[in-house]
Amino acid sequence: MISNLMSTEPWYEAGLRFGCTHCGNCCKSHGEYAYIYLMEPEVEAIAEHLGLEVEVFRERHTEVDEGWTVIRTSRSASTSSSRACPFLAEDNRCGIYPVRPVQCRTWPFWDENLRRKTTWEGPVRDTCPGIGEGRLYTADEIETIARGNEEWYADQD
Ligand code: SF4
Repeated sequence: MISNLMSTEPWYEAGLRFGCTHCGNCCKSHGEYAYIYLMEPEVEAIAEHLGLEVEVFRERHTEVDEGWTVIRTSRSASTSSSRACPFLAEDNRCGIYPVRPVQCRTWPFWDENLRRKTTWEGPVRDTCPGIGEGRLYTADEIETIARGNEEWYADQD
C-alpha cells in the first residue's frame, strides 16, 4: 500500500509539521475514524501494563468487529455524539501511553491520510489541530512512520 507513496515525489516532499496539542480528538470517534485496532502483541502488552490477565482485559476492554479486535469505546464525556477511548484521561492524556497501539503511535502519518494533500488539509486537519504545528517531519521520516504502520498490520495477518 505504501508503494503508491513512493512511485513519484510525494506532495509532502518538503516535509510536514506536526505537534500534538493534546486535544484528545484522535482518541474519539468521528467519521471514518471509529476504531482502535489491537493486534495480539498489543493486547498482551496493554493487559500486562494494566496488571490484567489477557482474557480479563479482552472481556473488559475489547470487542471483535469483522474478525478484528478493537478497543471498546465509551460515550465521550465532552460530546454526547462521539465515543472515546476508555483510556483517554480527563486531562486528554493517554492512560496507556507507554504501550499505546501502533495505530495511535503513528497518527497522523497514515497512508490513507497522506495519499492526497486535500485529505491531509481537509478532514485530517479538521480532526487534528496538531497538523501544521510543531516540528517539521521530513518526507523520509513521514514515509518511515507510514510504512511502519502498514507493515505492522500486514505482518500480523
Ligand atoms: S488530534 Fe492531533 S493534536 Fe489532538 S490529541 Fe490527537 S494527535 Fe494530538
